[in-house]
This record gives sequence, C-alpha cells and structure tokens, in this order.
Amino acid sequence: MIKLDEQLVSESMQGVFEHAPCGYALTLPDGRLVRVNETLVGWTGRSREQLLDSTRFQDLLSIPGKIFYENQYAPLLRLQGSVQGVAFELVRQDRAPLPVLVSAVQRATPDGIPALIACILLDATDRRAYERELQLRRVEAEQLAAIVTNSSDAIVTTSASGEVLTWNAAAAELFGFPAADIVGRGLLSILPTFDLSSLAGASRRVPGGPSPVQMDTTGLRSDGSSIDVSLGATPQLGLLGELKSVSLIIRDISERRALERLQQEFLAMTSHELRNPVASIKGHAQLMRRRGRFEERSIDAIVAAADHLDGLIGDLMLAAQIQAERLDLELVPSDLVREARAAADQYSGQGLPVRFESQEDVLPVLADRLRLKQVFANLLTNAFKYSPDQGDVLVRVSRIGEDARVAVIDHGMGIPAAAIPHLFDRFFRVEGSARQAQGLGLGLFISRRLVEAHNGHIVVHSEQDQGSTFTVVLPVLTSDSTWMAQF
Ligand code: ADP
Repeated sequence: MIKLDEQLVSESMQGVFEHAPCGYALTLPDGRLVRVNETLVGWTGRSREQLLDSTRFQDLLSIPGKIFYENQYAPLLRLQGSVQGVAFELVRQDRAPLPVLVSAVQRATPDGIPALIACILLDATDRRAYERELQLRRVEAEQLAAIVTNSSDAIVTTSASGEVLTWNAAAAELFGFPAADIVGRGLLSILPTFDLSSLAGASRRVPGGPSPVQMDTTGLRSDGSSIDVSLGATPQLGLLGELKSVSLIIRDISERRALERLQQEFLAMTSHELRNPVASIKGHAQLMRRRGRFEERSIDAIVAAADHLDGLIGDLMLAAQIQAERLDLELVPSDLVREARAAADQYSGQGLPVRFESQEDVLPVLADRLRLKQVFANLLTNAFKYSPDQGDVLVRVSRIGEDARVAVIDHGMGIPAAAIPHLFDRFFRVEGSARQAQGLGLGLFISRRLVEAHNGHIVVHSEQDQGSTFTVVLPVLTSDSTWMAQF
C-alpha cells in the first residue's frame, strides 16, 4: 500500500472542496450553515463570515424555494436521509437569481439523532436555458401544428417517393379525401401532372439550399372532377443532397382562373363590339372625303354608329359602377303605366311592331325614371334583336296584389332552359347569339341590378323557338308603404 502524506492529502481534499465547480455546504438540521466552500460563497455574493454567523441555507433561496425547502424538502430529507437534484433558485446579494440543483444527505449521530446535512449545489443555468429553449421550441412546434391544422390552404407532406405523409383539414376539403383515405397513397393520385423527381434535380442545383418551387397545375378531386390549383413545393434534403421529403402548400385558384377566362372573353368581345361602329364611322367618313361632299346617308350612319358606341361605353361604365357597388339612384314617386307606355311609344315611333296594354290607369311606384327607362329599353331591344322574324312585341302592365308588373313579351327565338340560370350574369350570351345580334352580354346584368336597386326583381319565362317574356316586378307605392318610409 502506498504511504501518503496525510497532511498533503487533507490539504488537497480541502482544495477540491473549496474550489470545486459546484457549491458545497454543511448545515445543522435546522439549516444553519456551518461550512461552505468558496464557490458557494462566490455565488451568494456574501462573506463567508456573514454566511456562517447567522445564515440558514433556506435563507439563501427565493421565497417560493424557501417555503418549499421548509415544508417539503427538509421533511423528506429527515424521512429518507437523502434527496437528489431538486431545482431551487439561489438569490444573490444583488437579488439576481441563480438556478441550482440541490442534492443533500443527512448525517446522524450513532444513536440516530440528525446532526448534519451535507448539500451539493450544481449551477443549473445552462440546463435552465436548455429547458427554456426546449419549451420555446415546443410552443413553436405547437403553434406551427395549429397553423397547419387551421390553415385555409391545403398543406401536405410527402416522402421522397411521393407517398402522402400528412394531410391537413383544408387538403381534405379541397380534394374531398379525408386524411385516412389518402395518407400512404401516392401524390400522383391527386396531382397527376406534378413531377416530384424534377423537384429533386432542381433543388440540388440551387446554391444555399432548396427554395420552394411554384407552379400552377390541375388537381383531381375524389369525385373525379378536376380543380385548378397553384402549389408551392419545398423539398427537404438530406446531408448528401438527396431528397428526403417534400412540403406542399396547395391553393384553389379556380376562381382566379374563371376570372382570367372572363377577362379574356370580355376583352375579345368588347374589342370586337367596339370596333364595329368605329369601322362604320371611319368607312363613311372616308367615303365622304373620296366623293368630296357631305352625304345625308353617311352622316346618319355615322351618328347611329356613334350612338351605338356611346351606348356600349355607357353600359361598360354602368356595369363597372354596379360591380363596385357605386350605383346611385334618385327614386321618386312615378307612374309605372306612363313610364312603360313611353318606352313602348319610343319603339313604335321608330316603326317597330310594339303593342301596349295596361289593366291599370295609374300604377304608382318609386323609381329613378332614367334608370327604369334604360331597363325597358334593354328588354325591348332584346325582344327585337332576338326575334328573327320581327314578330309583334307586347308590353303589358298589370297589378297583382302589391306587385306592379311590366311584361315584355316576344315571339322570337326563345332561350334554352340550360341558359336561363346564367342569363343575368355579366357578359353572358347564349351560344350562337353573336350570329343573331351584336351585344356585350351586359344588358340583362345591368337591368336586373337596376330593378333590384328599386327593391324589385325580374322574372323570365322562355321557350326555345316560341318566345320569351321578361317581367319587371316592382312594389306598388302605397301611403303606408314600408318601402316609402325609407325616403
Ligand atoms: P346582349 O343582348 O348584349 O348579348 P343581354 O344581357 O341583354 O346582352 O342578354 C344576354 C343574352 O340573353 C343575349 O346574348 C341573348 O342570348 C339572351 N337574350 C336576352 N333577351 C332575349 C330574348 N328576348 N330572346 C332570346 N334571347 C334573349
């Protein structure tokens, strides 16, 4: 056995005790400190004398720590003889807290009476920071999960081979598949034209890591229908740059696409419609220049074409106003019989076969007379435009209860039943109408909105090859009209 210099050993142990990277303390059973090492002295910011003179271990702790020490920790220590790694906060003299983990062992006299408590305190600052970081990450992960769950965009993750791994509620809504039906299946079943392998190649070439790939494509719904979608796909790569998984954010763009289509149709139609009268004006003007004189017929044609152009532009502007909900009406008490008769007279005055009938002498309504005139003009123009044989058109005014009605009845080409629900949509024209007559498909859209702004509605009855009846229904103005009370 090696013979050691006992004094050297004892001094070395004392050095280890004093300068160890943890705090050591010996206390009496009531907590009074009887020995502390330098590390603990440093942590408390007090002098060793101060500590050993009158301080109890629990006095070094924060208030909740002190309460816990006296009510839980010390009784447990008495009971078990030792307690391991309990978190406390040590309060320094400058009040700054220091998180520590305290382990303690109780020493007793040979006859079992508690005599001393030996405590080891480990600085838990790093651990606390780590725990806090962990907690923060957990909250972030929970927030992210909540965002994914509640997102109105479909969020999907897939494996590198395209197998669906996660599928949020919006994805279920968009494609019509509940998660249980799609997780584990291939992405191709919902995005048949999306090529995952091109994504891997593209992302590998991007310096600084993968960035989302954006594209518009077509998705397949559970009922077999297709849907226009835009998707952002972000690849997750492994250490060797291999594709590990893909996150996709998918958004329904069918409305946007429909709008784009509508815009394109609108541009094609308006430019065509506007060019016709312009061409006529130009043609007649050139004719007069060539002949070197004014021609009555050409001037009439120019004025008519300019009027038509004016009407088209007016309709476009009014439709834009309606769309922006900036329609201003000046509603005044008016006689519907008189307004409808004036409209009919205007057409018969031009030699068109229009008849007028009224069961009432006077039918009071609230109306913006100019706008109402425009509605009747639209309906009458259509009645003639879409009657190839120029049959009679009848304007009939009647009253049913509180409804004042003006029906414009033609015996023209009629409207196919399938088109009736779309008749009042912006820019809608029944297929083949363009061959029959010019138009922007705005007249009925405008008319319905104008009549609705009068608190009324338009009813259509039509049979193909038999004719159509468009009936404007407005509330009759009575002295106790609730409608009147708003004015
Ligand atoms: P436009 O006449 O400029 O095309 P409208 O909005 O007035 O636009 O009418 C929309 C479509 O409804 C027309 O293109 C036509 O196909 C159909 N339509 C309207 N009125 C009649 C009618 N009286 N008879 C047959 N078809 C009609």
